[in-house]
Amino acid sequence: MSAGHPEAAAAFLNDSERAAWHDQALWFVRQRRDRATDLPEWEALRDRAAELKAYAMANLAGLLEAFETRATASGVTVHWARDAKEHNRIVFDLLRQRSATRVAKSKSMLTEECQLNPYLAARGIEVVDTDLGERIVQLAGEAPSHIVLPAIHWKKEEVGTLFHTHFGTPADESSPDALAAAAREHLREVLLHADAAITGANAMVAGTGGVVICTNEGNADLGMHSAPIHIVSVGIEKIVATLDDLGVLLRVLARSATGQPITAYTTHITAPRPGAEMHVVLVDNGRSARLADPEFRSALHCIRCGACLNTCPVYRRSGGHSYQYSIAGPIGAILAPAVDLDAHRALPFASTLCGSCKDVCPVRIDIPVQLLAWRGRIASANALPKGYAAIFARLGGIVADRTRFESAGRWARRALRFLPPALLAGRWNPWTRAGRELPLAPAQSFREWARREGRVE
Ligand code: SF4
Repeated sequence: MSAGHPEAAAAFLNDSERAAWHDQALWFVRQRRDRATDLPEWEALRDRAAELKAYAMANLAGLLEAFETRATASGVTVHWARDAKEHNRIVFDLLRQRSATRVAKSKSMLTEECQLNPYLAARGIEVVDTDLGERIVQLAGEAPSHIVLPAIHWKKEEVGTLFHTHFGTPADESSPDALAAAAREHLREVLLHADAAITGANAMVAGTGGVVICTNEGNADLGMHSAPIHIVSVGIEKIVATLDDLGVLLRVLARSATGQPITAYTTHITAPRPGAEMHVVLVDNGRSARLADPEFRSALHCIRCGACLNTCPVYRRSGGHSYQYSIAGPIGAILAPAVDLDAHRALPFASTLCGSCKDVCPVRIDIPVQLLAWRGRIASANALPKGYAAIFARLGGIVADRTRFESAGRWARRALRFLPPALLAGRWNPWTRAGRELPLAPAQSFREWARREGRVE
């Protein structure tokens, strides 16, 4: 449920030190992305990436069938899941038939979307997330707060305390090297001895029937090369037509996500290991419905780089958990309402519409336009968050009438200029309550200034 995004964001902001540090940490990643994308061909790469994703979505059925044919011919078993429930059942059946009780999972936002971990845990199968950030939040009993940096909201001292509890590291150990070494020792044991490996996928290539997985830790590779069965859970929108198309996506993905020219491990898997099994579960879970809706179709182009989260002033200051959906930030705010409009009706309003997400998106998704479209649909469905309907009805009456709008502006400027700050910045005011300052209002509006200058009538 994310109808309570404002309340959850306010709770995050109560810890002002963490909120400021979270903001800075993500802005640091955004700046790395800026440096990495300072290439002469960058805008052309974005154009090409947007085109090839649009092509893939326009030819989705044919490309998926081509993928299935080629993958099957190489010994991979392909499954189709209409929704999360079917996905979880397919994965469970595969594991149960092989008496698997411990699974090494590598980062997959789709399995978060499908809530696979609790589903399997309830049936006696332990799933260990093997990406370091994912393991941290799993040990803490939390969901990831970011699609690329799942534990970005954790400080190293807090990780030290967590590892002391679970791995017996010294109580005051907070050196990243020492903590990473402890995690490596623990995860290596899991990766080498798990009964099965589950991974996500960054892409499927129709032309080769192969699956492509990018990680910086190599955990997916170790898991899939050790376990007797490898299950890939992947959304149907991850299909691309050719290896050349994939090359474009890989270039924009790593630079946008972490500011790296390429991720440390980019693995192409086209067949099971000798003596082992490989299964690919292709998951729809609402994607076909989104494809059929021209207004929101391009949300399916997302390659989950996280750049829109890192740049978003709302995400950076409200934390990923405030979105209460597996994918947070601007992209989550346009994906979640398609899954459950009522539960996530606050998310399209969790944006200033500054457009920064659109500016950084490597596949040029126009997120602000979709946020606005969702707001319209939510209003039409009479599902506006609490209090919004009354406010918008009044504001609508004012902004639709120039005389009233200009008069309201004059009164607001006077109030901001002449009323005592203590009166304006009381606890009643959500703007100042969150620690913001009230700017000094100008004496005249921009339009009044332009009129005086003779630039408009
Ligand atoms: S919407 Fe664009 S910027 Fe955001 S995660 Fe997806 S691809 Fe990256």
